[in-house]
Amino acid sequence: MIQLRSDREIKLMRRAGLVVWKALQAAGESVRPGVTTAEIDAVVERVFQEHNAEPLFKGVPGTVPFPAATCVSVNEAVVHGIPGRRKLREGDIVSIDTGCRLDGWCGDSAWTYPVGRISPQVQRLLDVTLQSLELAIEIVGKRQRWSQVAEEISAYIRSHGYSVVETMSGHGVGRELHEEPQYPNYVNTKIKEADVTLRTGLVIAIEPMVNLGKKDTRVLPDHWTIVASDGKPSAHFEHTIALTKDGPIRLTAEPQPGE
Ligand code: MG
Ligand code: MG
Repeated sequence: MIQLRSDREIKLMRRAGLVVWKALQAAGESVRPGVTTAEIDAVVERVFQEHNAEPLFKGVPGTVPFPAATCVSVNEAVVHGIPGRRKLREGDIVSIDTGCRLDGWCGDSAWTYPVGRISPQVQRLLDVTLQSLELAIEIVGKRQRWSQVAEEISAYIRSHGYSVVETMSGHGVGRELHEEPQYPNYVNTKIKEADVTLRTGLVIAIEPMVNLGKKDTRVLPDHWTIVASDGKPSAHFEHTIALTKDGPIRLTAEPQPGE
């Protein structure tokens, strides 16, 4: 069942989203050659602690429970990378994805950062993936159904020669980090049948995942890390967005004037 949130609830969710933004800012500032993915995770966890926010990725059930507050996914890793001793190197890209709960409400966001100088081809992958998220946010308040948004962003991504990852989707956010329904970044017949009507009060984690090569993915033996099967780089950007009567609001973006 799809929950609609009141203005008051969206204000509370914004508070959680701001903590996620702060954590990702701090994590992004820590990205440089030589830093380990575990050190990035520690930065995120510290920000959550400072705000008395609950890290929501830790302990997510699976074959093994997810062990960290953050998914840190390097290069061909699409999402769900486990932080550890791996050191980032000049030319890598790293997706940092995290979520927390504050006073009962959740926020979820991800950003892909370059490590030092990266190749122009990979920078373009980051640019197009971020632009696809921006496009989704721009049109989500103007379309009737989610499939229309998915159609436009997937067409945009493919027009640059990249592939939309189909094995994972955006999702509702509320009291839980992952709520119904799913918001895929592409369209097929089945998705159109289960389409979501866009309306005021929906809160959506929009998160395009884009592969420089082919769309296929596989899971590594660590049971979590999802990688592009062809080993080529993959990018991921995510914001939690609330649909309000005044248009979409970014719940996980930087503070606005007066906040
Ligand atoms: Mg996320
Ligand atoms: Mg998400």
